Amino acid sequence: MRVQLKDNEERKKYKQMWELTKLKDVKVTDKYFDEALHIDVKNMLLLDPDRLLAGFRETACILAGDDEETTSAFMKRKQRYGGEWEDKLIGGHTMGHYLTALAQTAVSPAVTGKELEDVKIRLDYMLVSLKECQEKIKGTENEGFIFGAGFPTKEFRDNPLLQFENVEKGLSHPFLEAWVPWYTMHKILTGLNASFKYYGSEIALEIANALGIWIAKRTEGWTEDKHKKVLSIEYGGMNDCLYELYEINRNLKDKGNSLYSKEYERFADAAHAFDETELFERILSGKADLLNNVHANTTIPKFIGALARYEAFNSEKKYLEYAESFWDLVVNKHTYVTGGNSENEHFGQDNVLDAERTNVNNETCNTYNMLKLSRRLFAVTGKKKYLDYSARTLINAIMASQNHETGFTTYFQPMATGYHKVFNTLDGNFWCCTGTGYENFTKLQRGIFYKGDEKLLISLYIASEYVSDDYVVTMDCDFTKSDKVNIRIKPAAGKVIADDFWLRIPTWSRAIPSVRLNGKEKELKQNEGFLIVSKEDIAGGAELEMCIPFGITCENLPDGKNTYAFLYGPYVLSARLGAKKIMTKPHGIAVVASAGRSVDNDEISIVSEKSVEDFVGNIDKYLIKRDGEAEFDLIGTSKPLVFTTHFDQYTESYGIYWKLKV
Ligand SMILES: [Zn+2]
Repeated sequence: MRVQLKDNEERKKYKQMWELTKLKDVKVTDKYFDEALHIDVKNMLLLDPDRLLAGFRETACILAGDDEETTSAFMKRKQRYGGEWEDKLIGGHTMGHYLTALAQTAVSPAVTGKELEDVKIRLDYMLVSLKECQEKIKGTENEGFIFGAGFPTKEFRDNPLLQFENVEKGLSHPFLEAWVPWYTMHKILTGLNASFKYYGSEIALEIANALGIWIAKRTEGWTEDKHKKVLSIEYGGMNDCLYELYEINRNLKDKGNSLYSKEYERFADAAHAFDETELFERILSGKADLLNNVHANTTIPKFIGALARYEAFNSEKKYLEYAESFWDLVVNKHTYVTGGNSENEHFGQDNVLDAERTNVNNETCNTYNMLKLSRRLFAVTGKKKYLDYSARTLINAIMASQNHETGFTTYFQPMATGYHKVFNTLDGNFWCCTGTGYENFTKLQRGIFYKGDEKLLISLYIASEYVSDDYVVTMDCDFTKSDKVNIRIKPAAGKVIADDFWLRIPTWSRAIPSVRLNGKEKELKQNEGFLIVSKEDIAGGAELEMCIPFGITCENLPDGKNTYAFLYGPYVLSARLGAKKIMTKPHGIAVVASAGRSVDNDEISIVSEKSVEDFVGNIDKYLIKRDGEAEFDLIGTSKPLVFTTHFDQYTESYGIYWKLKV
């Protein structure tokens, strides 16, 4: 299983085409986005850290052979949170998300003062506590292991590694045998990596490296049969987080930093044990319906892991092909207008989307993961399609997943017309999407800017500020009010701007955007979907005013020729359908789904035109924006509807897709 890919000089010369700018260098100033961050942080700080740690502490005590009283004291007399997730076999997954979200917050320039102080205290406390758990079993056969799952029976309490053993036997009953321990481990290790990468915590790296060795040992002991069985049960992106840990250590070694683990090459071998090449090859074959009935959130991270292998060993070009093919398949054949995918957590047949619009579409973790994949694919390939998808998904799936008043987030986002969004509660629903939800709003500045060699790319038009050593970029825009983007570029004292500025031409722009440079119309070069402002023109600083012409656009579904969604520029619109039918019902394992449907059907009869094509072609006449508001009146049909920006719908039932007929 050895990787046999050695560090070499060629690898050291490799540079990504673009790099995501650092979280600490970008501050989102858009009011809505900024509020979304702060309410998210508020909720995270309301959680009891000792309850999130309870499972980790109990596990460590059991493995150390502590008596009941010692265990209870070490647990600070606290119990795991309930709700069937944190107190059952998937317990502890929230810890991973929590670490990642706190680490991202701790470096966000939008967080300051007491809030920042509280976040750092919390993150430090979590890490020190996890380290204490790890220290407790140092020198034992389980050295390095940390885990926080619940113990549904005495058997599990007696042997906290039982889930891992059961997975190796192919046993996967989520309550009786194993939920998804490697998925949980992926979240934990990713959180530790993030705490080192963003926040610089050396304790986090120490824990991650010790845990990495435990994981490596486990994978090295697998027979072919065990290996197969493990890969048959959801394991998240174990390849992704282990390649990441490998790279962290390799970079430290390259820099002569003694913090690196001397055994770091084992992490790449362990990562490779989670590369499911059989699946990767199948996707590459391009056959029909490859994703039919495939669990979406199990599968997407596997391909992020494939990309991670390419990022770590850029000679592994095949792995980039795997990730690109998968992305194409998901985005082109399985994705709704918001950027979301899946029905009841699964992909369907190729291009069957209209027929699968229900109350349980678009698991939020999937868009979280697709965004991760897209941004990293752009960084290595420079292909604009990855940015176009990211822009759409951030606004219409991620921003749309939060209740803007409570900060709580969705599991599903129904695509069937007439349902509503259901949100988690503070301490009752520790779903997978609750965890990715915490993360989502602490990294809203990611992907706005990318840095390349002597160039800066503006990918997302969101009011924000980017500060580098050489200059400051301040961007203002709000497409609900205006079609203009104002960009001010100011060199640092004694510097000149030595970067070209690349501006993404949005897919929804009706023509090439016009740009005024310091008040004068400027003809710009274009390259593969970007406008380029050359450094010579902005050397001493500049004011750019970009005008993006846009209006209403209509998008149908591959299997629903007349089933349309409407967009206003970047925003997916949804009809306001009132709050009278807000009802929920249990779904899956302690998840909650929308139950009451506010409309009998989603048909709209056109009375103003002779055909659907004519209506759609003249949509500007029939979906009319109210002055100064993000509200749109649909006229010329049998149903007078009021639409608004979908991201801002969280109190009413809604309708994105409508079947048009004459
Ligand atoms: Zn989820």
